Amino acid sequence: MPSPSPKPASKKSSDYCIATLGSHSALQILKGARDEGMRNLVICKKGSEHPYKSYDVADEIITISDWADWNEALEAELIKRNAIIIPHGSFIAYMGHERVQKMKAMYYGTKEILQWESDRRMERQWLEKANILLPRVFEQPEDIDRAAIVKFHGASGGFGYFIAKNAEQFHEVKNRKYPEQNDFVIQEYIVGVPLYAHYFQSQITGELEIMSFDKRYESNADSIGRIKAEDQLAANIHTSYTIVGNIPVVVRESLLPEFFAMGERVVQVSKELDMGPTSSASGGLRGASKGLFGPFCLECIVTRKLQIFVFEISARIVAGTNPFIEGSPYTALKYKEPMSTGRRIAREIKHAIEQGKLSEVLG
Ligand code: ATP
Repeated sequence: MPSPSPKPASKKSSDYCIATLGSHSALQILKGARDEGMRNLVICKKGSEHPYKSYDVADEIITISDWADWNEALEAELIKRNAIIIPHGSFIAYMGHERVQKMKAMYYGTKEILQWESDRRMERQWLEKANILLPRVFEQPEDIDRAAIVKFHGASGGFGYFIAKNAEQFHEVKNRKYPEQNDFVIQEYIVGVPLYAHYFQSQITGELEIMSFDKRYESNADSIGRIKAEDQLAANIHTSYTIVGNIPVVVRESLLPEFFAMGERVVQVSKELDMGPTSSASGGLRGASKGLFGPFCLECIVTRKLQIFVFEISARIVAGTNPFIEGSPYTALKYKEPMSTGRRIAREIKHAIEQGKLSEVLG
């Protein structure tokens, strides 16, 4: 039976439901919907419901035995409830881009962006055009002329990434340890501190907000320094970047103008590159695509000279916003109430519904 199509017609936010998958940043998304007076639901893989029950953040929990069971019948249930799906990192990872593209249920955000951020060349084209400082890419090992990080595609937790400072070192490690793996990128290794900037671009107000910053707590990268370098070598310990948690950061205030400017350029260029359908607010003008909106993150390394390099963009809510369920120092400046990124999403959707602009925030 084909799924019915959603009808984003009502101007009452209580006629809609905020839906997400039970993982990643679902707790704050669900709480955020509640705080904005909207219904919510969470779809959990069997066995992962406990936190959503224990914290009592969900109006409804739908359990499925496996993500592969996401099917038309489930989507029909979502459509019946007028559910708006909020994508997060795990949602995209579990569903895969193709399934997301085909989804008929209402989806918050621009689906076309998924292709831009998942294809390294397209992502680079976008960020370069936005005048963002990027680590150099070495097309071939022979071009390596400084410390470089070799990243294997799909390496979970950055496992197997290694550092080489010239072609000889590259071939030595590659041939010895990864002779079969040929899908990799060689990037200049930026010496500095990793910093993740969390933004929110509103379709309703047109404003770009900085919500918060975090740094990641990665295993074993964040503990390897506890062992002497020679012991690391003796014990054959290699660096991995498996994310375990997130730590809040407040940046030095003089960096904020540049962080705002970077975010604004990335949003502007996403429209110039025609990402997403044309916004109806534009009157159908070319170059007036919806572009990037809602939450996104620039994943940066800041050097000792305070240069801000971006090594990746995430065009959705990132888990680094999780420490800020009660708001961040930045949202405390802007809002009278605790404002998480999850709540900011719900508020945007609520305002869009009330102003008859829901289609502006759907992909
Ligand atoms: P994904 O989001 O795709 O899982 P990620 O965000 O963990 O990936 P990766 O590109 O896999 O990012 O990088 C893993 C780790 O390596 C990060 O902690 C980051 O700080 C570090 N890193 C990545 N690129 C560079 C670089 N060019 N220079 C220095 N450190 C880097």
